[in-house]
Amino acid sequence: MENINRSIHCTVEDCVHHCGSCSYCSLEAIHVGAHESRPSEDRCTDCLSFVKKF
Ligand code: SF4
Repeated sequence: MENINRSIHCTVEDCVHHCGSCSYCSLEAIHVGAHESRPSEDRCTDCLSFVKKF
């Protein structure tokens, strides 16, 4: 993985954009959204740039 964005900490290792051996995303930027109409906790939000690793 050539790109490591140390501004985006992430532990979702099942994502194709995860750097693998470190705890960072490899994208320049990510899109974050919420799956609740009125989010009240961190778990109400999601990384919408996630792509499942096969
Ligand atoms: S796209 Fe989102 S879920 Fe995937 S590695 Fe980056 S921050 Fe994590």
